[in-house]
Amino acid sequence: ERERLARLRHRPAVTLDGQRVELLANIELPGDCSAALQAGAEGVGLFRSEFLFMNREDGLPDEDEQFEAYRAAVLAMDGLPVTIRTVDIGSDKPLDRMSVNELRHEHMLNPALGLRAIRWSLADPVMFEVQLRAVLRAAAFGPVKLLFPMLSSVREIRATLASLARVRQQLTDEETAFGAVEVGAMIEVPAAAMVLPTFLHHFDFVSLGTNDLIQYTLAIDRADESVAHLYDPWHPAVLGLVAQTIRLAVQAGRGVSVCGEMAGDPDFTEWLLALGLRSFSMHPAQLPSIKQRILRADTNRLRALPDALAQAEEPRQAWLQWSLARDAAS
Ligand code: PEP
Ligand code: MG
Repeated sequence: ERERLARLRHRPAVTLDGQRVELLANIELPGDCSAALQAGAEGVGLFRSEFLFMNREDGLPDEDEQFEAYRAAVLAMDGLPVTIRTVDIGSDKPLDRMSVNELRHEHMLNPALGLRAIRWSLADPVMFEVQLRAVLRAAAFGPVKLLFPMLSSVREIRATLASLARVRQQLTDEETAFGAVEVGAMIEVPAAAMVLPTFLHHFDFVSLGTNDLIQYTLAIDRADESVAHLYDPWHPAVLGLVAQTIRLAVQAGRGVSVCGEMAGDPDFTEWLLALGLRSFSMHPAQLPSIKQRILRADTNRLRALPDALAQAEEPRQAWLQWSLARDAAS
């Protein structure tokens, strides 16, 4: 089994009909890069940078400390792309410390709907621009993509890109070395999925955060055990938003990836392939089983799948029937 997995690691993810699929890893700290490479990842699709900010006693990481961490990931990946997401603190990832606006997590009425992720960054432009400087500087050492969490409106998009432009100008004026980055937005709020053309207009790529997209589409707090049974990735509304996002991005010729847990769930692999997804990012442990799914898939035989699920009242049942029929036919 070990040997089989080792062989699988070096095998590119290509479907039976020759479609090349990129498999990326989600990481929390630069030290996770070795596990990502071990699992055969072709890059980092989501570096959750907030983990550099959490569980600390000595204040928030300054520019140099962040730069060192991002560069460590870039160097560890040795030429493979590293997608760094700006901090997604607040909600399920609280900072223990007093922070912006003297707001403490426990004082937020509804943290999932409150000041988190890009909202936090835009509320504290100094902290935000320190992070952007560190990321751009690390990009001088290898391919880096910059990803912004939780954007929902064009106003936020404009404010975010204005900060980025300011930081580029500063670095240029100071003659500090930095690199070019592709810039992307997470699609994890239903509003973002519903105004996707605006996002495709402003960004090089989008990445679907299905964990939050499910939470916000279904109004289910992903951290609340009492409603965990209602947290349903198979809900037709969720599938509809995911399908629409992938199709529009592919049509527009923009990069599109899924970095939420749906990407690492083998029950969704064929459906995502059929929609046109060619980039999946997941916990490294999920990589081998998703790769196996891809190696066994023939996208020509998956063409009817998206419609079959879209027309079903209970898409999960439709998927089970569809996969039983497929297994019987092969
Ligand atoms: C997501 O929401 O799907 C996602 C990838 O981000 P996080 O889980 O870190 O919120
Ligand atoms: Mg998220």
